[in-house]
Amino acid sequence: MDTPAGPPPSNLFYQSRARRPVLDRAEGVYLWDRDGKRYLDGSSGAMVSNIGHSNPRVLAAMREQMDKATFGYRLHFENEPAEKLASLVASLMPKGLDRVFFVSGGSEAVESALKLARQWAVASGQASRWKVISRYPSYHGSTLGALAVTGMALMTAPFSPMLREMPRIPAPTCYLDRDELTPDERGLRYAEMLRTEILRQGPETVLGFIMEPVGGASTGALVAPDPYYARIREICDEFGILLIYDEVMSGAGRTGRFLAAEHWGIRPDIVVVSKGFAAGYSPLGALIADRRLVEPVLDAGGFIHGYTYAGNPLACAAGLAVVEETLERDLMGNATRIGALLKTELRGLMARYPFVGDVRGKGLLLAFELVSDRETMEPLPVAYDAYVRLVEQAYERGLIIYSRRTRGGRAGDHFLVCPPLIADRDHVAEIMEKLTASLDALAGELGLSKGN
Ligand code: PMP
Repeated sequence: MDTPAGPPPSNLFYQSRARRPVLDRAEGVYLWDRDGKRYLDGSSGAMVSNIGHSNPRVLAAMREQMDKATFGYRLHFENEPAEKLASLVASLMPKGLDRVFFVSGGSEAVESALKLARQWAVASGQASRWKVISRYPSYHGSTLGALAVTGMALMTAPFSPMLREMPRIPAPTCYLDRDELTPDERGLRYAEMLRTEILRQGPETVLGFIMEPVGGASTGALVAPDPYYARIREICDEFGILLIYDEVMSGAGRTGRFLAAEHWGIRPDIVVVSKGFAAGYSPLGALIADRRLVEPVLDAGGFIHGYTYAGNPLACAAGLAVVEETLERDLMGNATRIGALLKTELRGLMARYPFVGDVRGKGLLLAFELVSDRETMEPLPVAYDAYVRLVEQAYERGLIIYSRRTRGGRAGDHFLVCPPLIADRDHVAEIMEKLTASLDALAGELGLSKGN
């Protein structure tokens, strides 16, 4: 193979050849690169750093644990931080949802959920059930099992021969619909698509339905009309199908509740969290399952699944301190209050820029979408690459936001604005100032018309 021309390639590689500044340090809602430039973390990384950077309590808890033990293999030892964290998490869940299995990230958590669900079906005499219906668009992780339920063609296409592709139904992108229905009616129409799909597949073959209650990167903080949630639960119950909530992004307080499920009083059968759960202090995730699923699996010989680093004492000590900090400082209350302020400010952009088509989300899981025409919600031309350009404009100004475009989907370029849950009014003002300057620059670059 020829070595590409240009500077010698770095040994380090991620998704592309694009290079980024080298991180030097981080504190609170800010990060600094090696040249001393400061960035406001307007997306908490990838919606991870919920309690901000360099939190003294978490660092102290980790140091204390490091002095005792950083690792004990889970098949040889249980450990106190894991035990305490599992109890704390269980106490925050709806009743009965109290069996906690630790992993090291979101994809691992989703894999674990799929496998636990399947083992439950086998252990309870329902081995014909194996299909997990998901939504399009959606993102559930990068491993092959999680990809099999991910609804993003760009991410799944090259791997399709290796995947057991699962059935998908449209995500409730009601804000794009132009019809005579009320929002609630639209929400119910999308929920009924699950029922139709279950019947089409044969209910006896369907194991579960997986969904992000508040969408993440795939849909840009998509929230369905309220009746959608209860109706989905009802449909799953009607056919004895497990409801799996992927709260990798929406969980751990980001939407103003520990689980986004709480906004609608929904009790999923399995829920997965990661990202904000250890808030970037250590790789950590968790699957929390109804004890009625776990007990038959343990009775039948055990869960045939596990990761070497899972539940290690250092990661769990970090997670425990993060969750305690979130609860004691009422960061979920702050996410609700500051999220409402930020959402109002983002809505204000719609008055100024006709090409801001929608603002949505809950708590501090917020997004806006850029379009060519707000009436029809026609996306901007793909060739504009607005989802890359605006992020670059913001980056230059020292603001980090997170963007995606669902190629092939109906939605346009969307941008997640999700600062840490410790953000205050001044941070919101700084975000808005930098975002407005970035949108002005984007409008100039692409020749987009501005309002009056
Ligand atoms: N599920 C959702 C909803 C996510 O947002 C993500 C990460 N963006 C994942 C799963 C996968 O998590 P990880 O990158 O930690 O594997």
